[in-house]
Amino acid sequence: MLHLVVCIKQVPDSREIRIDPKTNTLIRQGVPAIVNYYDLHGLEEALRIKDRHGARVTVVTMGPPSADKALKQCIAMGADEGVLVSDRAFAGADTLATSYVVAMTIRKAEEEWGPVDIVFCGKQTLDGDTGQVGPGVACRLDLEQLTYVEKVEHLDLERREIIVHRHLEDGVERVRAKLPVLITALAELNEPRRASLPGVLRAARYKPMVWTTNDFPDLDRSKIGLRGSPTIVAKTWVPEPRKVNTEYIPADPPEAAAEALVERLFASDIAEKLGWVQGVRA
Ligand SMILES: Cc1cc2nc3c(=O)[nH]c(=O)nc-3n(C[C@H](O)[C@H](O)[C@H](O)COP(=O)(O)OP(=O)(O)OC[C@H]3O[C@@H](n4cnc5c(N)ncnc54)[C@H](O)[C@@H]3O)c2cc1C
Repeated sequence: MLHLVVCIKQVPDSREIRIDPKTNTLIRQGVPAIVNYYDLHGLEEALRIKDRHGARVTVVTMGPPSADKALKQCIAMGADEGVLVSDRAFAGADTLATSYVVAMTIRKAEEEWGPVDIVFCGKQTLDGDTGQVGPGVACRLDLEQLTYVEKVEHLDLERREIIVHRHLEDGVERVRAKLPVLITALAELNEPRRASLPGVLRAARYKPMVWTTNDFPDLDRSKIGLRGSPTIVAKTWVPEPRKVNTEYIPADPPEAAAEALVERLFASDIAEKLGWVQGVRA
């Protein structure tokens, strides 16, 4: 049977975070913890493959004990198993250390439930926002990496081939690759389903598996947590609110307003910053 692994991260819903204009700090109160938005698209695609071809879907996450709620949400949607990798020793990890632990977790999931055919990650997270963990995991597991995937066109199980569409800045790339692969999901990939009633009932009773450092006999402790992180966040701050001076140019007649707008743009430093050529005005 196909084995699909979905990597998820529990994140604060940064779409709900506001900046207090008086104190200039983040308002975190009441911000819900959710499954990272893009990861749900990875999970949905895994579930669609499961619906069509039959598959075991394992969801893995490295995080604090409270991240088990995120796994339960995935179980409610239809995942078979959820694994929480949690240990103080993993805390403070940057993307290098995170991808090391996530890769080790996937190896261990292979020992438990068989070789992995497709690993799904989100394009990026709503909090860390780096987009580096997926490619890092692919490198460590020597998987073909298919990033920025907006469509899975075809999955040929006999040939063990997958065809996907990758969203690039200047177009779409259609890629054919041999399994096993790692896919990073874009929001365009699909519409995540709602949890089903049987799923919700199963999730209510479900206890995600919890793996600690003790469950990884081959773990290199110099590669995890703060110690295994070459980058250090030395300072964080809230960006100063931008002061924007606006000017209203009445459109009367519209041609004169357009002319005035172009005049103003070329008189400012915007034209130079954007590399506009003077001759364009002629
Ligand atoms: C300013 C700042 C300060 C930080 N401070 C700390 C700190 O003090 N302590 C601390 O512990 N962390 C801290 N972090 C978080 C940590 O650096 C990142 O969460 C971690 O390296 C993962 O990177 P990312 O969130 O950018 O994931 P991305 O690379 O954007 O994630 C891409 C995909 O990889 C997968 N993925 C990512 N993380 C996980 C995971 N944990 N488990 C399973 N799958 C995953 C998901 O599928 C996700 O969609 C900080 C981050 C920032 C930006």
